[in-house]
Amino acid sequence: MLVVKKFGGTSVANKERIYNVCRRCAESYKNGDDVVVVLSAMGKLTDELIAKAKDINPNPSKREMDMLLTTGEQTSVALACMAFEALGIPAISLNAFQVAMHTTSAYSNARLKRIDTERIMHELDQRKIVVVTGFQGVNKYGDYTTLGRGGSDTTAVALAAALKADACEIYTDVDGVYTADPRIVKKARKMKEITYDEMLDLATLGAGVLHNRSVELAKKYGVALVVRSSLTNEEGTVVKEDVKVERMLVSGVAADKNCAKISVVGLSDKPGTAFRLFDALSQANINVDMILQSVSHDNTQDIAFTVVGDYADDAIKVIEDNKTRLKYEKVELEKGVAKVSVVGAGMMSNPGVAAKVFECMYNSNINIKMISTSEIRVTVLIDDKEVEKAMNAAHDIFGLED
Ligand code: ADP
Ligand code: ASP
Ligand code: MG
Repeated sequence: MLVVKKFGGTSVANKERIYNVCRRCAESYKNGDDVVVVLSAMGKLTDELIAKAKDINPNPSKREMDMLLTTGEQTSVALACMAFEALGIPAISLNAFQVAMHTTSAYSNARLKRIDTERIMHELDQRKIVVVTGFQGVNKYGDYTTLGRGGSDTTAVALAAALKADACEIYTDVDGVYTADPRIVKKARKMKEITYDEMLDLATLGAGVLHNRSVELAKKYGVALVVRSSLTNEEGTVVKEDVKVERMLVSGVAADKNCAKISVVGLSDKPGTAFRLFDALSQANINVDMILQSVSHDNTQDIAFTVVGDYADDAIKVIEDNKTRLKYEKVELEKGVAKVSVVGAGMMSNPGVAAKVFECMYNSNINIKMISTSEIRVTVLIDDKEVEKAMNAAHDIFGLED
């Protein structure tokens, strides 16, 4: 069988961990499997490279950032193959050019378009373990791109789909997907199975255990994913279309601290105001998330919204650059906010969930700054210092523990 195994940063953080990864892969190889390994950068290397870049230039171009960050994954695959050599297992490392992995041109946030499989298949036919760089791609200009933070999961799923792999295993530093981040909510429970849709919501709303695009791709191509620990033999969590267990009202709680709130105060209360504001932002490729429009007063209104934290300064610049067109009094940026979301397919037919979320924020004395809901989630924006308290309270009120 052909299996894609992806190992994240902590799983390849040092020499011992790299050998641990290689031994696990060698076991599968010796059982006769064709093994494709996808690796992330070692430990916190990506963060360290970002810090180095910002030290040289606080505002580096995205192209040069990608050129820099892709070195992290390249280091991992080369070192892993040296470990395989030492273990006497035939292996070869390949980067995004060698594979090749074609992406859109958007540096720092590219999407995979197509993966050539010939080279990988050729190496597998030679009975080699193929070790591929996660996170990186190549665009039409022949430049490196990256897939966004946490993007190695997406590389693994895309490879599994392109190679029609029999299994795609995501090895990480927790032993599966929990009802909430187990580092924040001690009572969080490991799930045996979860649907693509629920996992997609959790991942999109901040559960960093899987890159959300990897879940999107897995659903699209029907890739069955397993999330498990690289250090233990625990079973892990299967992510798939249908699950056997009864659908819970709420499946999990997630938090996202990488967000910022922007308020545009004193806009004119006329048709077209919201359009002009959000059109200017979308032209600049800035995604807006929660939106709140105030009741009008004295022919003016305020609009507040959230964006991904990394894009906050860009968004402010767009709004200031368009001041004459947008006609507003002032624009305010609030960092230090976080979204806490309660997710579950069961809430579609159950009206009380939102009220219960608000009740538990009230009981914990947490002020809600913004609210947004969909059929299967309730999200509140709060002070980021209250995230831990809010997540634990929400987890408790919905009885998610064992
Ligand atoms: P890797 O480097 O292996 O990709 P990540 O740090 O990206 O690892 O993802 C694993 C982390 O995701 C865990 O250490 C955990 O703190 C966090 N996490 C957030 N939400 C969840 C969840 N619902 N279940 C499990 N882990 C979660
Ligand atoms: N190394 C990249 C990051 O830290 C990609 C990944 O780990 O998935 O975001
Ligand atoms: Mg990750």
